[in-house]
Amino acid sequence: MVVGDIATGTDVLVIGAGPGGYVAAIRAAQLDLDVTLVEKDAYGGTCLNHGCIPSKALVSATDVAHEAREAEHMGVHADPAIDMAGMTAWKDGVVDQLTTGVERLCKGNGVNLVDGTAEFADENTARVAHGGEGQGSESIEFEHAVVATGSRPVELPALPFDGDLILSSRHALALESVPDELLVVGAGYIGMELATVFAKAGSDVTVVEALDQALPGYEADVTRVVTQRAKSLGVDFHFEEAAADWEEREEGLTVVTEGEDGTVSEYEATKALVAVGREPVTDTVDLDAAGVETDENGFVPTDDRARTNVDHVFAVGDVAGEPMLAHEGMKAGEVAAEVIAGEPAALDQQAIPAAVFTDPEIGTVGLTESEAEDAGFSPVVGELPLRASGRALTHDDTDGFVRIVADETDGFVLGAQIVSPEASELIAEVGLAIEMGATLEDLVATVHTHPTLSEAVMEAAANAMGQAIHTLNR
Ligand code: FAD
Ligand code: NAD
Repeated sequence: MVVGDIATGTDVLVIGAGPGGYVAAIRAAQLDLDVTLVEKDAYGGTCLNHGCIPSKALVSATDVAHEAREAEHMGVHADPAIDMAGMTAWKDGVVDQLTTGVERLCKGNGVNLVDGTAEFADENTARVAHGGEGQGSESIEFEHAVVATGSRPVELPALPFDGDLILSSRHALALESVPDELLVVGAGYIGMELATVFAKAGSDVTVVEALDQALPGYEADVTRVVTQRAKSLGVDFHFEEAAADWEEREEGLTVVTEGEDGTVSEYEATKALVAVGREPVTDTVDLDAAGVETDENGFVPTDDRARTNVDHVFAVGDVAGEPMLAHEGMKAGEVAAEVIAGEPAALDQQAIPAAVFTDPEIGTVGLTESEAEDAGFSPVVGELPLRASGRALTHDDTDGFVRIVADETDGFVLGAQIVSPEASELIAEVGLAIEMGATLEDLVATVHTHPTLSEAVMEAAANAMGQAIHTLNR
């Protein structure tokens, strides 16, 4: 202990109050453990403050403007103007409401909240430096620790973030005005969501992507729909080009890219958003002092109980690696807390869904057809194109499809790929089906409300059985 430290003890020390950490802390407190949650910045972590929530707020707000602007053929005449400062203020209000709620929930469940940066001193002690001059520090002895320190954006050495011309997603989500021209580096989750937001807000958006398609990792016919829609919003895509350099201009910057064949291209823009992935935050916490190992990419490997190589130290959320999704972090937080409390919990989910909040949205869960084949199943696939959905037509949004993958032998649902409005919501039904071991027949036998997009899930399942009514069977 450092002289001058206050010393305290706790059953469970949780480091980081993002979705992984605050859920672990609340669940552990519910299980009657004494819990201390340390956060160095803001409750809710990246997700609530600089990620999921602010980005979805801007997705919703720019959607309202876009839909109103595009609705003349539906008999609606409107000419919406975007006040980016107003939009940002509204978004900040949403964030405030949620972060205050997280703090209140932690307190209400009896979690001890400590503001500061926690760093391991040894296997059972952490030192917490409180923010600001003269704020002091304290030593916390713990029985168990949960590392939930999250991730930060990867910085390209050739295009370092300056918050003015070269932006991370955090900077882009706090802009007070709409950039005339926005150059987006990386067509992954963040690049595609924010390219859509800023195109709808009125920016001329150009996207450069090192690989040959947007959202690599998703099937080509899935990403084709959202790439086409983004193009129709005016987004200009350049694939197989990697950002390599930049230069300041009088008003803005020029970004230089290099193609696979060495071709050099230049793009002028008011600002550039660099979204080329995220890396784990471990440099704040001194894992070595607790003997916790990391892998070659800096992530903390964990087992199916969210345990690190040190028995009483757990790691959850982005710091524990892919998938770096808030809901995965929350589930791992619950499991860590339950294991610490001696319950027989494990990360044994059959499938973890993912959603991309583009226009239209993408929702996926479980296996694709080719993954099912590789895993030794005999997949059968059913699909409903959205143009066959009455509700999609009334949404005036018919690009996309619902695809269900099942095992031909026994009908067990194995996965789904959905490209449609509200795909992020629709995918939940298939997630539940997979988790419960439901079959195609179960999905088809379930009466779905009419007219809804969810009927498309039932119809796609029926199509896989050769029984679809509203599309021709294969
Ligand atoms: P974080 O949320 O990063 O929280 C970690 C916390 O630990 C931070 O508050 C940090 O200050 C604190 N911390 C770090 N070191 C210390 C220390 N030594 N002591 C004390 N505190 C410390 N995911 C989705 O599922 N859906 C989405 O729609 C989605 N949208 C996103 C949009 C954007 C723009 C971004 C950037 C991410 C998005 N994500 C989304 C990913 C999601 O935000 C992360 O998966 C999630 O936040 C990870 O949670 P976490 O608890 O692991 O870490
Ligand atoms: P990403 O991994 O999704 O995409 C990064 C993209 O950048 C890739 O397509 C990659 O090929 C490309 N790239 C890399 N270097 C490049 C270069 N020099 N020039 C051009 N392109 C380059 O990463 P992200 O978009 O930064 O998102 C990070 C993580 O945040 C995601 O993996 C996801 O886990 C999470 N996230 C999730 C959601 C969601 O769930 N809806 C939304 C946003 C972020």
